[in-house]
Amino acid sequence: MKISQDKIIEIREANPIEEIIGNYIPLKKVGNNYKGLCPFHLEKTPSFTVSPQKGIYKCFGCGKSGNVFTFLMEYNNMSFYEAVQELGKLVGIQVEITKDENEDLYRANELVANLYHSTLLSGQGAPGREWLLKRGISDDTIRKFMLGYTPEQSIIWNEAKTKGLKRENFEFLGLLNGTQDVFRRKIIFPIRNRAGKVVGFGSRVLDNSEPKYINSKESSMFKKRRLLYGAYETRSEIRKEAILVEGYMDLLSIYQAGTKNVVASLGTAFTQEQARYLKSYTKSVTIAYDGDTAGHKATERAIDIFLEEGFDVKVLPFPDGEDPDSYVKKHGKLNFTEVQNFVEFKIKKCSNVTEKEELVRNFQETLSKMNDPLKKELWTDEISKKLGIGKDLLLIERVIPKTNKVSESKNIDNLEATLLGIAATYPKVRELLAKKDFKVSTNELKHTLALVLNGETSADVLNSISNENLRKHFTNFSFEEAPDEDTDKNTDYEKLGKDYLNRILRIRINAEKKELKEKIPEGKSETSKKFYDLKRQEVSLKGEIA
Ligand SMILES: [Zn+2]
Repeated sequence: MKISQDKIIEIREANPIEEIIGNYIPLKKVGNNYKGLCPFHLEKTPSFTVSPQKGIYKCFGCGKSGNVFTFLMEYNNMSFYEAVQELGKLVGIQVEITKDENEDLYRANELVANLYHSTLLSGQGAPGREWLLKRGISDDTIRKFMLGYTPEQSIIWNEAKTKGLKRENFEFLGLLNGTQDVFRRKIIFPIRNRAGKVVGFGSRVLDNSEPKYINSKESSMFKKRRLLYGAYETRSEIRKEAILVEGYMDLLSIYQAGTKNVVASLGTAFTQEQARYLKSYTKSVTIAYDGDTAGHKATERAIDIFLEEGFDVKVLPFPDGEDPDSYVKKHGKLNFTEVQNFVEFKIKKCSNVTEKEELVRNFQETLSKMNDPLKKELWTDEISKKLGIGKDLLLIERVIPKTNKVSESKNIDNLEATLLGIAATYPKVRELLAKKDFKVSTNELKHTLALVLNGETSADVLNSISNENLRKHFTNFSFEEAPDEDTDKNTDYEKLGKDYLNRILRIRINAEKKELKEKIPEGKSETSKKFYDLKRQEVSLKGEIA
């Protein structure tokens, strides 16, 4: 899936950012820029700003920023590749799919999924089948979800060799260590993406040893926060409504008990990406997380995320200590008469004013996440009645704290991202970095630095930063008006760049000094040669840069 850099730039330039974003949210021209209500957080006055000249957007409320590709990626939950392809289509630029770089990885995953599955069904798989049978999982369910089993000895490499697949692909996916299988004596749950391709695996031990569940390695292909277990297998059942559970076994149990419209969140920390993923199937969800404190907290968080994405949210609560799996074992199936709406779930008995205040604030927060005006009105009404609190009070918008002034930050990743952003906009800062032979310590910014030094525009450099927070910092100063050559303003940015560089180098020197002090016995560190070197660097920093 290699697309040439030239083609990416061509597609980006052929798709005016204000038009593309304008297809999704109303934008109004203000000066050189366009402004609109941010689609990524709730606000009443527009702080989402789009610059046609620079080809980037930034929200001055929540900080989200990027180019036309990242907008589509975040808004539609697409991959970079999909976004490029989509925008390519709009302007008639074909993105060839000659050789999908991921194709070999998909083949590797598919081979392993098949191999584990056939092992489970073979003589070798007896311990696994016995374990699943004890938990009431039938052959039909095993086949539907292609469950697998890994024996004691390694089996992958022998099979892969004969098929001509490369070992490094299996190692990249975290399935092989050399020629040895990583997973042994485990039940295997293949995890598929939207297109039905296996992208990763969950595993469970047969006994009660910890950790019970381990997933295969996160990679560019396997990003848990963007996936839902079972969503591919149950895709035709979740069109109307989906039941969200925490784990693999919860899903399999209740699927088998007849509740087939179920997906699992691969852990308790439900994400916005997962909500958007689910949204392409349904906008109605019932959360059925475990009946313990962690499950409760996770439910509260998931409620807010779903509401923010415009879902109808309900909750199926369980008695303390029970989860969907154990409940179904006891009662045969889930009891949907116990389903509550999210307000009923959140309302607790308050025994004093402090508790009630906390509850009201919690609802303020939740309501502030709701983007649909009608839903917001109706639920505010409902909550107001239930709590006996005026609607005005419930709708007080919580002020989103302003992004920290970077100049005080000690976070070197953020500082480096900001510096690179300044350098991408101001050639003099770029020259400074080149002259000083500046290196980044943040791995993710290595390629970004190379692009900046190469003179790429901010909008194109942004493609190299997949971390949202780093993107935010990269664009910290992108929206200042571009200065004319040789004006005072230009000097300002040169100084700003120097300040950032200075700060970064200082933090690095201090970290080195600290490390040195810890290594060398008290008193001696100050006299060591290395320490003098650092001191000298510190002094020269003062002279040269500041
Ligand atoms: Zn925003």
